[in-house]
Amino acid sequence: MTDLSPFPNLRLVGHPLVQHKLTLMRKKETSTNGFRRLLGELSTLMAYEVTRDMPTQPVEIETPLETMTGTMMDGKKLVLVSILRAGNGILDGVLNVVPGARVGHIGLYRDPKTLQAVEYYFKMPQDMQERDVIVVDPMLATGNSAVAAVERVKRMNPKSIRFLCLLTCPEGLRTMQAAHPDVPVFTAAVDRQLNDHGYILPGLGDAGDRIFGTQ
Ligand code: URA
Repeated sequence: MTDLSPFPNLRLVGHPLVQHKLTLMRKKETSTNGFRRLLGELSTLMAYEVTRDMPTQPVEIETPLETMTGTMMDGKKLVLVSILRAGNGILDGVLNVVPGARVGHIGLYRDPKTLQAVEYYFKMPQDMQERDVIVVDPMLATGNSAVAAVERVKRMNPKSIRFLCLLTCPEGLRTMQAAHPDVPVFTAAVDRQLNDHGYILPGLGDAGDRIFGTQ
């Protein structure tokens, strides 16, 4: 068992429904269609946890019987930032329950010489300083693109940043914790390790390929 005490920014979602669906996604025989559907369902369940401490306001409403003060979240203040391309697989599931959220995209590739993340696309909604951000990517593996994406989003001065993935490993958590100790990482599992090619073990393979059927 991995010792998780060095990762105070980790938020592990151990709900049985989440674990069940993640296990189905890991199976190599799960089809592209099944993988995508499960990712959508899992993202909706993870959205419940990642929005748990989002700001709410009291709102006066009328029920059929009387007036009362309800509680609402301003979904439009939320921005989901997808790290291309696998991050897009998480968007619909979260938008199911926060349909008013805005969506930003960030594209990064790894320079083969320097191994550093290089940005090729960046598009965010306006007024980022008024918004709470959830950066999404199914796999937090080496952590290099997550760190670069969060770094770039921080330059826009949002009110808060959270990171949402399905799977991570000690290496990715260490990298994120060192670079962004202020950013909570929500995940369904912390796997054993990275292999020499940067894949998580036991993992679920290449998330982008499994979502888009590109292998
Ligand atoms: N990205 C993936 O899609 N899978 C991994 O295991 C690691 C990074």
